[in-house]
Amino acid sequence: MAEVIFNKLQKVYSNGFQAVHGIDLKIEDGEFMVIVGPSGCAKSTTLRMLAGLETISGGEVRIGDRVVNNLAPKSRGIAMVFQNYALYPHMTVRENLAFGLKLSKLPKQQIESQVNEAAKILELDELMDRLPRQLSGGQAQRVAVGRAIVKKPDVFLFDEPLSNLDAKLRASMRIRISDLHKQLKKSGKPATTVYVTHDQTEAMTMGDRICVMKLGHIMQVDTPDNLYHYPKNMFVAGFIGAPEMNIRPSKLIEKEGRLQISVGNDTLALNERQQKRCAEYKDQDIFFGIRPEFISISDEPFAESHSSGEMVRVENMGHEFFIYLKVADFEMTCRIPSDEAKPMIEKGLHRKVYFKFDMEKCHIFDAKTEQNISL
Ligand code: ADP
Repeated sequence: MAEVIFNKLQKVYSNGFQAVHGIDLKIEDGEFMVIVGPSGCAKSTTLRMLAGLETISGGEVRIGDRVVNNLAPKSRGIAMVFQNYALYPHMTVRENLAFGLKLSKLPKQQIESQVNEAAKILELDELMDRLPRQLSGGQAQRVAVGRAIVKKPDVFLFDEPLSNLDAKLRASMRIRISDLHKQLKKSGKPATTVYVTHDQTEAMTMGDRICVMKLGHIMQVDTPDNLYHYPKNMFVAGFIGAPEMNIRPSKLIEKEGRLQISVGNDTLALNERQQKRCAEYKDQDIFFGIRPEFISISDEPFAESHSSGEMVRVENMGHEFFIYLKVADFEMTCRIPSDEAKPMIEKGLHRKVYFKFDMEKCHIFDAKTEQNISL
């Protein structure tokens, strides 16, 4: 069993700066947990406290049934892969893989079998006699992952391991690392994995669950699907999803006994669920959020909505277009399937087009607390 638990975990650096503010997190045995957030939110600090590379200022870190606060990194049953995967330049791939095991004085035969096993999993067999300078970036990163695997750790730690790779390699390494995790799980030797990244795509595609952080606080811990569809607050709503959710300051008003959102010159009707949830927010400032794929646009007014904006920019993604509408002082991103978008785009930019929202899919945030009040 190697669950990982943070209890009121804190980090105050020697200059007095508090980077981590008493966070609680439970990572299940064998789970792939991604910690994500913008630069400076203390992802690395948190991971380094788990690894034993940074002292803990308060609270505790548990791995399995042990509190590891005062254990040296090598006694924690962890293996770590960094962004700057420093391979030993004068050693072959085989020697790089075996190095850590040699240090721990394992019998030669066991070292050989663990190295060969890792090489097979990561398809490194052909590269075993090469030096690091004879490897591509992706191959070198695979060796770095291999060095972690050979240790057969209880917990894998990854700190932005793919940031130095180009987009295509990143995508293939993402799949490789996910597959590796599944493979270990299947073979009955699941390794709990904690993976730090600033990239929400990596988080969404790799994590069983994702922990979103902001300025040393946890904003939400949930499955990718739940984070996307049920963000608890405006920060998570804006951080998860690309292109970003449109979020616009608005007001909740009552009209003919029903709550509506007053945004720009428009009013938007709320459904029954939203009416109920937001009842106590009448006449209050809110933020209205809608993801770009839940907006429809047309050259003609819709039966239920005459809202319009100016088409100011388009981006062709192949199967879909991102269309940017200027609505008063707000620029709104719409994600439109190619076959619908093309005829409209062909008529040229800077025209008036009509839009409507799928109100079932909208989010309403308290303007003060930024909490999602429509869930
Ligand atoms: P992230 O990995 O999310 O980019 P870090 O964990 O590296 O964030 O840093 C979190 C915060 O702690 C940042 O504001 C950073 O400037 C600060 N920080 C990191 N290392 C130190 C240090 N040694 N001394 C003081 N502050 C630090």
